[in-house]
Amino acid sequence: MKRTILLIEDNEQNLCLATFLLEQNGFKVIPARSGPEGIELAGRIQPALIILDIQLPQMDGYAVARELRQNPTLKDVPIVAVTSYVMVGDRERALEAGCNGYIEKPINPDTFISQIEKYLKAQPAGEESES
Ligand code: MN
Repeated sequence: MKRTILLIEDNEQNLCLATFLLEQNGFKVIPARSGPEGIELAGRIQPALIILDIQLPQMDGYAVARELRQNPTLKDVPIVAVTSYVMVGDRERALEAGCNGYIEKPINPDTFISQIEKYLKAQPAGEESES
């Protein structure tokens, strides 16, 4: 069974690149182009991992992460923040909001998948059965 990644990203180019890389590596990608859409989808599809852009219209990624963590069925799902912000404080803010980690934009195609895999492997055993 393919592992499903929920990709919350409003920028079409970033969405395309990340989707391409993930699909090439055997993931199934469900896109969401806004925070509210992502929150709604996350509850329904129970993704293996959520990739969350921080710079989103109407509701930023920090608010989205906090909302996702309110849902008990999503509490163990890794959330990886993606942002072009370079300030150290933003990393802390993302972690405080409930994200497990942080990837800097622009996405590096050579390391993106290994960065994502790292957060999937951090999950408790049995969560990502390949059968
Ligand atoms: Mn954005």
